[in-house]
Amino acid sequence: MISYPEFSDNCARLEERVAAAARSCGRSPSEIKILPVTKFHPLEAVEFARRCGFESVGENRVQEAADKIGRADFKISWELIGHLQSNKAGLAVKLFDRIQSVDSKRLLEKIDFHARGLGKVQRVLLQINAGNDPAKFGADLSDGPELLEFALGLPNVSVEGLMAIAPIDSTLRAAEECFLSLRNLRDALQREFSRPLPELSMGMSGDLEPAVAAGSTMIRVGTFLFGDRER
Ligand SMILES: *Cc1c(COP(=O)(O)O)cnc(C)c1O
Repeated sequence: MISYPEFSDNCARLEERVAAAARSCGRSPSEIKILPVTKFHPLEAVEFARRCGFESVGENRVQEAADKIGRADFKISWELIGHLQSNKAGLAVKLFDRIQSVDSKRLLEKIDFHARGLGKVQRVLLQINAGNDPAKFGADLSDGPELLEFALGLPNVSVEGLMAIAPIDSTLRAAEECFLSLRNLRDALQREFSRPLPELSMGMSGDLEPAVAAGSTMIRVGTFLFGDRER
């Protein structure tokens, strides 16, 4: 695990990278939030993020996050960005402020059910396999409208936008195509359902520039901030 000064340095370098990416496509850097991804790093990584002024972190696994949340003696928001199995939906609803990896009606139903039990409206993003990667989770682009329509009928779920991961090992050009597909879907869904879907969660350490160019509002960054993961 890196030291706090190193982390703080990486934050400054990341902010410069985001600012440069935003400038080169005429956007304001303030439109792009950074979600530090603390998966496979100790709780200390979350503490670093909080100390640096971040209000939320991203975790991939429900159990790993549960362990950290149980030990954290400070407040921060937790976002689930990894695949969610429906048998863990109840625990995820209890723990996470937002679930970015919702990709099926079955999962939406479970989340709505558990959220109702807790008297909570669960904030979610719909994960779309916008790069048609056979190895990736996420709903097909063509299933986006049906999934959103279904979600909008659930009283205890609130859809705030879309999330995508570019195919593994894709070129920057291919990543940008994936991100543009997600953005186009978002724009089309907003028109079709007359409902704002402001969040476009896309871009990671290796492909944040094409994501910003395609309209990302949130990049999820692990390696660039914290170094290599410990598992
Ligand atoms: C691990 C992960 C990230 C962060 O990836 P880095 O390349 O380490 O920045 C972002 N999003 C998801 C869904 C991830 O699983």
